[in-house]
Amino acid sequence: MKIATFKIGEERKVGVVDEGAVTIAPFDLPAELAQQGIQHLIERQVAGNSLPTTGAPLALEEICFEAPLPRPRRNVFCVGKNYHDHAHEFASSGFDSSAAQSAVPEHPIVFSKVPESVIGAGAFIEFDPAVSSAIDYEVELAVIIGKPGRGISRENALDHVWGYTIVNDVTARDLQGRYSQWLVGKSQDTFCPMGPVAVSRDDIDLGNCSVQTWVNDELRQDSNTGLLIFDVPTIIQTISEGVTLLSGDVIATGTPAGVGIGFKPPKYMTDGDVVRCEIAGIGQLQNTVKRRRL
Ligand code: MG
Repeated sequence: MKIATFKIGEERKVGVVDEGAVTIAPFDLPAELAQQGIQHLIERQVAGNSLPTTGAPLALEEICFEAPLPRPRRNVFCVGKNYHDHAHEFASSGFDSSAAQSAVPEHPIVFSKVPESVIGAGAFIEFDPAVSSAIDYEVELAVIIGKPGRGISRENALDHVWGYTIVNDVTARDLQGRYSQWLVGKSQDTFCPMGPVAVSRDDIDLGNCSVQTWVNDELRQDSNTGLLIFDVPTIIQTISEGVTLLSGDVIATGTPAGVGIGFKPPKYMTDGDVVRCEIAGIGQLQNTVKRRRL
């Protein structure tokens, strides 16, 4: 099932996208619960309750997508250097403040993006050239946690997954390289496009999903989730070892090769560029880059 958070007029709603991706049927929810995006639905299902009824479908062209979780309850967890080919292209870029350790990490590199950086499909990725001139894209499969837990084993990890979405882990490479902690370069306002929909966990083949990015219709990233160095169960086991994962937590699992920094010279994004991230079974997350004007 594909669920999306969206706006129609000024009103936020959550609904189910039909098989043909033509319409969306909004859940019958009070406005304050719809305000949470899919968070309420996750908690409801974790508590053993069924989803709310839905109303008359709306045409998708009438609505404006928002991120499934427009403002996650806390930082988005992210895994760095989690595909071999990307680990090597990044380590040799000169911007990898973790490169002194090794190109391919021995343990998952976990960092985060602040919740306020999240935007939906169709929103602008904004940048200020006075702050950064090296804006890059990173398509990533993102896990959405359902059942909370600490000390989750690999074997039980997928029981704690509610579903999946796409995150574009937009990065200011110059800031990422300047600070050994990546948060600033990863958390700039608008740098976490998410969506366009969330899919329930049984809807995708986790070990075999194509992961692709186009910039202005040029294919830049083209890989598969089967090539992750640390798979989803390992990531969940690692983070939850001493950190309780909560319903609605989002974990972006890392990006494959083909990011802008991997090209010589680098192909950074600039004003007017259109970046489209696609993961099989989820959809296409498209955003336009815009220079912030004073
Ligand atoms: Mg990333």
